[in-house]
Amino acid sequence: MSVVLVVNSGSSSFKYQLIDMRSERVLATGLVERIGDAQGRARHTVHAQADPEVGAESATAEIERRIPDHTAGFQAMLDAFAEHGPSLAQHAPIAVGHRVVHGGARFFAATPIDDLVEINIDELSVLAPLHNPGALQGIRAARRAFADVPHVAVFDTAFHQTMPPEAYTYALDRELAERHRIRRYGFHGTSHRFVSEAAAAYVGRPVEKLRQIVFHLGNGASATAIDGGRSVDTSMGFTPLEGLVMGTRTGDLDPAILLHLQRRAGLGVDDLDRVLNKESGLLGLAGANDMRDLVARHRDGDEAATLALDVYLHRLRGYAGAYMAQLGGVDVISFTAGVGENVPIVRAGALDRLAFAGVRVDPERNEKAPRGEIARISADDSDVTVLVVPTDEEVEIARQTLAVCS
Ligand code: AMP
Repeated sequence: MSVVLVVNSGSSSFKYQLIDMRSERVLATGLVERIGDAQGRARHTVHAQADPEVGAESATAEIERRIPDHTAGFQAMLDAFAEHGPSLAQHAPIAVGHRVVHGGARFFAATPIDDLVEINIDELSVLAPLHNPGALQGIRAARRAFADVPHVAVFDTAFHQTMPPEAYTYALDRELAERHRIRRYGFHGTSHRFVSEAAAAYVGRPVEKLRQIVFHLGNGASATAIDGGRSVDTSMGFTPLEGLVMGTRTGDLDPAILLHLQRRAGLGVDDLDRVLNKESGLLGLAGANDMRDLVARHRDGDEAATLALDVYLHRLRGYAGAYMAQLGGVDVISFTAGVGENVPIVRAGALDRLAFAGVRVDPERNEKAPRGEIARISADDSDVTVLVVPTDEEVEIARQTLAVCS
């Protein structure tokens, strides 16, 4: 049996997936949330056929009780497995893979976790104060709950550690930047890697031979230029704020705007943090961050929704062109995540001016791209293959975990 447990932990919640790696089939998923609140909750779903008792239908169970800390959270998860299946005795994980947002410049690959790695993840909390502490709490509790198997950290930043210095260096005073470890790190690396490998397999060419651009367009969004399987540039930077327009984040912005807002609007550091990360992007432009709402309103003639969509597409076109220039051409462009997988007008709009460079999206293939599977949406006469590729960060974490352990 080669079962891997994947854990994605935040400060007050964690998600998990139990995956049978022989078929990459998900046996169970769950979410433990409101850790530390008066009332916590664990939601556990046993996937169809994982347990003969469950039969053809997936089944979800909920436990509500106080969950004081992550250790109690893992106990709630173990209780859910014991009560609702699948049996962890029969499907015992041989390793646990942990998603960790920030690996700094230190971690360039999935890494087996020992006490020293824990210390390093803790120390990198300076760079990811909202994410690494929660991941660490999850890691510590999981190492206690599954003490006999290896635990592996899979970092969102690791895939981008192959960027050359000219791509990751900001034109900032060098000494100041080095002292504060300011450079482009990039994020969503697990997804970019999964999608670029899936795209290469789909077109039947080795990833080493392809120049690719991947657009991961979810609530957070990023683009990556990938040359021969290596990330050479990516739109998120020192933090996940830079780059594309996102659900609630600005993406690229003239940094002098922050100075202006401090001086003229009296906004402090915390105000700016909130405005840039939570109140901007599509939400700030049109009052909604869900692309479904925006597209519907745009079709109804809503001006704010149309402007938001136009700004979103303008930025995507800019990155598509920039990355074609950085790569010296492109063989495959892929769209993934909530928006990338589901919104044809975004895919079409992002590439609609690139016919001169051999990029031609077929309107019907784009509209009719089936959900949940890889689909080619480029026209037969397109020099560049354009794909929709469903991402699966959990499977990628499980693959990397297994690779490190075997
Ligand atoms: P993610 O972060 O990948 O889960 O993506 C979340 C975002 O994807 C949501 O905020 C929506 O804007 C968008 N999204 C998800 N499903 C759809 C859909 N069926 N149609 C349009 N947009 C969608």
